[in-house]
Amino acid sequence: MSLKIHRIPAFRDNYFWLFHQDGASGATVVDPGDAEPVLRALATLGLQLDAILATHHHPDHIGGIPALSNLGQIPVYGPYSNKIPFVTHPLADGDRVEFGGLVFQVIAVPGHTLDHLAYYMSTDIDRPVVFCGDTLFAGGCGRLFEGTPQQMLESLKKIASLDSRTLIYCAHEYTQANLEFASVVEPGNTALTQRRRQVDLLRANGTPTIPTDLATELKTNPFLRCNLPEVIRSAKLRDGSTNFDASEANVFRVIRSWKDKFQPGSRPP
Ligand code: ZN
Ligand code: FE
Repeated sequence: MSLKIHRIPAFRDNYFWLFHQDGASGATVVDPGDAEPVLRALATLGLQLDAILATHHHPDHIGGIPALSNLGQIPVYGPYSNKIPFVTHPLADGDRVEFGGLVFQVIAVPGHTLDHLAYYMSTDIDRPVVFCGDTLFAGGCGRLFEGTPQQMLESLKKIASLDSRTLIYCAHEYTQANLEFASVVEPGNTALTQRRRQVDLLRANGTPTIPTDLATELKTNPFLRCNLPEVIRSAKLRDGSTNFDASEANVFRVIRSWKDKFQPGSRPP
């Protein structure tokens, strides 16, 4: 079986994902923050929309759903949350859900929001895929709007424990800025230095850097590396307290809030 995934760029840096089984005409869209680009993509590709999938309630991920669902004619899957009133099929951690013969596993990943879900598929395809919204990004992770650092760390660990060949379909093109920050946290990470150079070249041509894959993230994403000496050392320096708590959760907390204040371009490369 083969899975086709199409990228729909939208707004400034969002990606909506449109997927279907190769040869099938019915497709599912993930996180359509706007209807217009989705309708254009469907027309161009000759596909029809069979289902809508949401990872969390932020407007840039659900804004297009009322228009696309055609007054409830097309099923809308997403977290059980009063913030997404038009979900017709509420999902929760551990659920399995099928779209056009493709079976996904639902993983709760609270942190960016409390209702955040990720969708993982690993059977019958070359490489597993995960649609993870604003949880794990290439080189970074989502901001903590609703959850605690501990919650987000646990959510990231759930994703980090998937098959390392998994392709990560996140919802934003933030990679370049994320890697700039990552390089400040881990200046000694040569895999990171190399990746940053590649990504800078890609972005200079306007080429997308998503999907990324889990193996690459494990080597270069500081938010998945909070138990490693250089990340701990940087967090400790940033925090400045003499009796620094070097637990993974505290290291994560420090670098996440550091990233919140970090201005890309503020430091020499
Ligand atoms: Zn969001
Ligand atoms: Fe978003």
